Amino acid sequence: MDGVSVQTLLAIIIFVCSLVGGFGVSFAAMRARALRQEVRFESIYNSVADGIYRSTLDGRLLSANPAMVQMNGYETEQAFISSVNDMGDEWYIDPRRRDEFVALIARDGRVENFVSEVHRHKTGERIWISENAQLVRPEDRKKAPYYQGTVREVSDQIRRQNAERRLAQLTAIVPGCLYQFRRDADGSYSFPYVSRQMANMFPLVEAEKLQDAEALFETVHPSDIEKMQASIEESAQTLATWSCDFRVKTEEGYHWVHGNSIPELQPDGTVLWSGFLSDISARKQEEERVHDMAFIDSLTKLPNRRYMEDQLDRALLMADRSDRNGAVFFIDLDNFKRLNDTEGHAVGDKLLVEVADRLQAAVRKSDTVARLGGDEFVILVEGLEADIKSAEMRSGLLARRILQSVGEPYDLDGVSFHTTPSIGIAMFEGASHTAPEVLVHADTAMYEAKRAGRNTMRMFDPDMQRNLEQTMSLIDDLREAMTSGDLTLHYQPVVNAEGEKIAAEALLRWTHPERGVMNPREFLAIAQQYGLLAELNDWVIEKAIDTLREWESDEVLRDLRMFVNVSASRFLQSGFTERLGALLMKKPVKHDRLTLEVTEAVMSRNTPYVAEQMRNLNALGVSFCMDDFGTGFTSISQLSALPLAYIKVDPTIVQRSHESEDTRLVVRTVLAMSRALEIPAIAEGVETDEQFKSMKAEGCTLFQGFKFGSAVPIVDLKASQMTARSFALSA
Ligand code: C2E
Ligand code: CA
Ligand code: CA
Repeated sequence: MDGVSVQTLLAIIIFVCSLVGGFGVSFAAMRARALRQEVRFESIYNSVADGIYRSTLDGRLLSANPAMVQMNGYETEQAFISSVNDMGDEWYIDPRRRDEFVALIARDGRVENFVSEVHRHKTGERIWISENAQLVRPEDRKKAPYYQGTVREVSDQIRRQNAERRLAQLTAIVPGCLYQFRRDADGSYSFPYVSRQMANMFPLVEAEKLQDAEALFETVHPSDIEKMQASIEESAQTLATWSCDFRVKTEEGYHWVHGNSIPELQPDGTVLWSGFLSDISARKQEEERVHDMAFIDSLTKLPNRRYMEDQLDRALLMADRSDRNGAVFFIDLDNFKRLNDTEGHAVGDKLLVEVADRLQAAVRKSDTVARLGGDEFVILVEGLEADIKSAEMRSGLLARRILQSVGEPYDLDGVSFHTTPSIGIAMFEGASHTAPEVLVHADTAMYEAKRAGRNTMRMFDPDMQRNLEQTMSLIDDLREAMTSGDLTLHYQPVVNAEGEKIAAEALLRWTHPERGVMNPREFLAIAQQYGLLAELNDWVIEKAIDTLREWESDEVLRDLRMFVNVSASRFLQSGFTERLGALLMKKPVKHDRLTLEVTEAVMSRNTPYVAEQMRNLNALGVSFCMDDFGTGFTSISQLSALPLAYIKVDPTIVQRSHESEDTRLVVRTVLAMSRALEIPAIAEGVETDEQFKSMKAEGCTLFQGFKFGSAVPIVDLKASQMTARSFALSA
């Protein structure tokens, strides 16, 4: 109701009252009451928060109360009225609203709660209003009809509604749930706001309890809840961003949730976080998979080396605190390589899986069985007796059980197989050694078990440690010798039946600064054990090639062939052929004078592979000699499959060639083989005339041994060659 209609109403009331007054009520009293009401209406008109107005049908403003004036940005009613030309045009932001307003009034005579976005008239600022209005047709027909109505600004309400709608739309597409979370001054928690996705995040919480912090916390995994609440407290104290991963119970188990939110200290002392929760189960699964990959051996599903080292670190600390002894078992299979080579890797893998099962069955649940790689396994045994003797005895018993169990025959998909383990044991009683040290001790003891003939166990003791340390320093020295000049090659002549030098075998010599001349067989065995063999062999080959190239420009030595020893394991390593090929490209040797000596041990790999590698090198001018022939079990058919240029008959055969009919027979067989295959034989280790004569009599044409000269430095070889020539010339 606007002011004007109030006045009209008052006039009518006063008029009616004056009539009624004639019937006994004093007119003055009625008038006084009407006046009081008028004053009250007047004050309401001026002070209500709602705008009240009257306007002509074509939009001219007739009157406006102070609220209406203020809502439109003016100071006085006069200023407002005089600024308006057509209220409808200048008011609605969407011009169609005016037409709708007019159409509604035409139909119903009124509009109610008509919400529109309009301009604040003076400033043009957009505001939202809700209108109630009606068309008034004055009784006096001469007077034009007009609109009168009330207007209320509802901008805040509409904006909030819009914001909430947008938020709902947004939260529907965000992959997670948005929330506000409050910590009250008394330390209790509440969720003033959660988006609809909260129901997905906490599927077991009833819909109406989704804002109830206690109800939500109850479904968090018991092992995560403390950590989660501590992190919330910390965020409340430091006002740092809260971030936490935790598990929430679902029908199917637990799923992983990541929470993240920014805290704000409120004026009332509460802390309000705004943030989101997202389901990270997929990521956690992936993380677990990667973790497993890093710590689990994929073949046997046992823990791997890394995991074992971590466990051992922890076990050493525990043992330190508890005074209990522990033990590490290092287990290596004795003939795994043979199975792999003869039956293939798939069968080899089956054996490893079976061994893993047997080892696990042999130990207690609390012991850790790991696979370090290849056929090496480690068992960590904890909590043994505090008394070392008892602990050792217990370990010995376990080793016996393992020897027995692993030693039982295997049925690998129809292939029956038998293997034995070599076991090294290192006891530990505290953190006096590091995990890698304890593992090396167990490994050392395992080597001792191998040395003692395999299929047995050895316990690490300090003597082993001393030997180990000596060996280690020897290895360091050997590495150094390759560059210092302490390591050299000597050359032993190979002669024909006339005693003329036709070749030389390069033999390693190491003069140790303190220990003097070292036996090559010994230091080569150590190099093999400690991974230096490949390097050493490569060093020899390169050195020998350098020497051959020097000989090319030497009148006396240029025709000599060079025999160079290569360890079977080096020759069988992948990449050997390629490496030597590359070296020969860089350092070519004339007239194919390089011959590599290999032993029958190369037959541990299948013959076609060995033959192929040899042929590849043949193509580069490198020939092969079978060394120490007669000591192994190579058959004539295996031998014939290899492209060999020479066979070296082992000294043990040569030196007994004249002893008896039996030994003579062995010599004959070997030489017959050489003739049948058309591979010349070299009699090695010829020390006496007798040996020389008997080998020659059996048809051998090439010889090597102290009788013709031992291994000497190049200068001496050259000198002896020169005397031999001048002798031959003068003869
Ligand atoms: P091998 O290849 O059979 O070398 C022949 C060995 O017999 C040499 O011992 C040599 O000095 C020795 N010898 C030569 N003539 C006679 C003789 O008339 N009587 C006796 N009793 N022995 C004789 P050395 O130099 O001590 O080498 C021992 C082994 O060490 C070699 O046996 C070979 O297996 C290995 N070796 C030596 N140098 C190298 C090398 O550069 N590379 C590789 N991979 N192995 C090498
Ligand atoms: Ca040799
Ligand atoms: Ca030999």
